[in-house]
This record gives sequence, C-alpha cells and structure tokens, in this order.
Amino acid sequence: MTTTAAPASGSIPAPGPTHGSWRGLPAAQQPDWPDPARLAAVTEELAGLPPLVFAGECDMLRERLAAVARGEAFVLQGGDCAETFAGATADSVRAKLQTLLQMAVVLTYGASVPVVKIGRVAGQFAKPRSRPAELRDGSELPAYRGDAVNGFEFTAQARTPDPGRLLRAYHCSAVTLNLCRAFATGGYADLHQVHAWNQDFVAESPSGQRYERLAGEIDRALAFMRACGADPEELHAVEFYSSHEALLLDYEQALTRTDSRTGLPYDTSAHFVWVGERTRALDGAHIEFARSVRNPVGVKVGPGAAPSDVLALIGRLNPDGEPGRLTLITRMGAARVREVLPPLIKAVIAEGIEVPWVCDPMHGNTFEDLGTHPGGIHIEFTGDNVTECVGGSHEIAAGDLHQRYETACAPRLNRSQALDLAFTVADSYRTRPALASPKPIPPPVP
Ligand code: PEP
Repeated sequence: MTTTAAPASGSIPAPGPTHGSWRGLPAAQQPDWPDPARLAAVTEELAGLPPLVFAGECDMLRERLAAVARGEAFVLQGGDCAETFAGATADSVRAKLQTLLQMAVVLTYGASVPVVKIGRVAGQFAKPRSRPAELRDGSELPAYRGDAVNGFEFTAQARTPDPGRLLRAYHCSAVTLNLCRAFATGGYADLHQVHAWNQDFVAESPSGQRYERLAGEIDRALAFMRACGADPEELHAVEFYSSHEALLLDYEQALTRTDSRTGLPYDTSAHFVWVGERTRALDGAHIEFARSVRNPVGVKVGPGAAPSDVLALIGRLNPDGEPGRLTLITRMGAARVREVLPPLIKAVIAEGIEVPWVCDPMHGNTFEDLGTHPGGIHIEFTGDNVTECVGGSHEIAAGDLHQRYETACAPRLNRSQALDLAFTVADSYRTRPALASPKPIPPPVP
C-alpha cells in the first residue's frame, strides 16, 4: 500500500460498470451460475460499491515492477492458495502479513535488494479446477471453485454456485485490505519491530532462530543509523500491494472503473491481477480482460508454452513494451524447468523485451542465469503452523502431513518453510553469477 494518497492525485476511479470487450469470447473456468438474473443484480450492486484500490497505487506498482525488470528489485508475491471467508480475521491476516514481512526482511538484508511486497490476499477467493465435478462415494457434485463461488462442504446445496458469494468476496476483500493497510503503515511493519514479528516463533523453529540472528544484525545497523542522526521514514512503514488471479470475469468487470485522471479503465479489485495457466488462451476472454485494464498484470506460464506463445502473449498484453506492465510468472515443474524455461527466456531477450520473470516454486521451479534477472518468487503460504508440504529445516515428513492439513485447495508452505525458502533464495540471489555485460543478448533460438 503506498502512502502516497491516491485521492490527492485525483485518481479515484469513477463508479459504475465499464464495457467489457471480453464478453462474447470463450471464457474458461467460469461457474455455471444457476440464476443469471441474480448474477446480473449482484454485479450491478458490485459496480456501485467503492473501489478497493486506487489507480494511482496501481501506477506506483507498475513503476516498482519496471525496476524489477531492470534487475534493480525483487518481487515477493505470496499468500494463501485460496482465501476463505472464515479466514478474513485479524489474527489470520496478521499471521500472513508477518510471514511476508519476515521473508521480505530476509531477502532485503540477505540479498541486499529492494523487495516489492505483493500479497496473494484480499481477493484470492476463486480457483480454477482440473475437473468441473467431484465424485465421492458414487455421488457427483460441482467442484469447489473457491468461496467466491460455492461452499467446500460436499453437499448439493453448498456446491451450487451462488452469486451472492461475490458480494461476500468483495466485503471480505475490503476487510482484509483494510487490515493490510493498517498493518503496513500503522507501526506494525516498522523495521524496529523486526524481533517482535518473530516472538511467537523463535524457540521452536531453526529458521526462526536463524531469523533472530539476522534481526540482531539489523538492530545493530538501525542503532548505528540512529547514532548517525539518520531515521528515514522508509523504515517505519512498508509499501504493500494486493493481488489475485483474475478468474471470475463478471466480478472483475464489475470492479473495473474509469480513472478520472486519465479516462482509462482500472480493475480496482486489486493492484495486480494475473491470468492463470488454464485461462491464458490468446484469443480467450481472460487475456482480453487483462489487455483492457491499466493495472500491472501477470500471466502464469507452464511447461506447455512455446516461445511463440509467450511472445504472442507479450504482444497482446504489452504491445508498447511498457516496463512493469506485464510480469511472467513461470510454473514449469521441477522435472521440466531446465528444459523448457531457457528457450522462453532466450526468445524474449532476443526480441529485446524486458519483463520481470517471477518463479512460482510451488511447482518445483528454480533459477538459471540466462542473461536476465531473477525477478521474484510467487508462492502459496500461510502464517499458521500447518503441515501441508514436506521438508524444511523443521522437517515435515510425509507421515506428518495429516496432523494439520487444512488448506481449502492446494498445499501451502507453513511459516517456518516460508522463511527457509526466503533464506535459500536470498543466498542464491547473493551468490548468483554476475551478468557478463549489462544486457547480453544470447544467440537467437534455433
Ligand atoms: C494459482 O496460482 O492459484 C494457480 C491455480 O496457478 P496456475 O495458474 O499456475 O495453475
């Protein structure tokens, strides 16, 4: 959240629906809403509600992402796989923020790089699914698509898509974002609190202890700065941005507003929205929606993407090559990443295009230096002590998974594992090979 007040710059987007150029195009992964009239009433109501973010904030994030593309900053994007309405509580949001802040400190201090902090929060209430239906004990019901669509419980009533849930998703997003803004700027995220974020955690976890040592070094650095008379305001608050997958287009469209400064449309449901691997068809509705808004946007790119696909997506979403407008989030899977990622990066560099390459390691990705910058990580984590992924310094074995397997969708890192990852990434970033020249151009892809 930037502290630059968007209203002062006149960038409160005007209420009311804007035209959706995506309508009529094939839209994958949309729920079968049983009552279209109710959906229309809900989206009309949403269109009259206040924006959740301001256009000026989105512009600021675009600038930050441009710095990432130049190799001058690193993205830390993370949060729940799927947020739930029940999880929109102060404790749960604080725990997520705390984890993100701790990871950001590890990365900033350990890798000496500014970190752009983007939560997968305040809107991540819908999920694409591999199958539209779920079969249990002979009965088949619609798959759970996230709290914005239907309920998790395996009953016909819960699983029936209900447009009223879109309104609830909006209100839970507003509550969550309000808490995030308060935590980010109201003193909690002050760097002098670096030990406090760890207090409930330090004794029980090796990563917590490692963090505590790092926090001690930061304390000494802060004391030194104070003694020198320096106390910059950047130390007392953080810039924090919200993001989610732009999946439910009726919802995203209802929150798309015209910016009064520029007359351009912004999706005011979040600062950053991305199009998922399953909905990124070039001529599909999701890419057209992302093309039509001014927010910084992302696209997930999986192992099936050819270099020509990625170049076509860039051409569609960022035809003018505007720095920071488009982020590519790669999720290749550990088994294939070495084979499939380098040709994509080489093809993009060969065209002279700079994008932030953000790695989604929840699918086992890793970094390689191909004459570009490791732009960031996109992860699914929670601030709670769940047991959903194996490994970590506080070793979780396959046999431990049942203990606290609580996710509504895919498995998430717990706080200790998230910190382990931050330390590992900071170490790799610091020791990565230097680029041979400021911007080497590798041979063209055969
Ligand atoms: C996600 O990030 O929640 C997701 C579903 O990822 P992908 O688009 O890569 O499948």
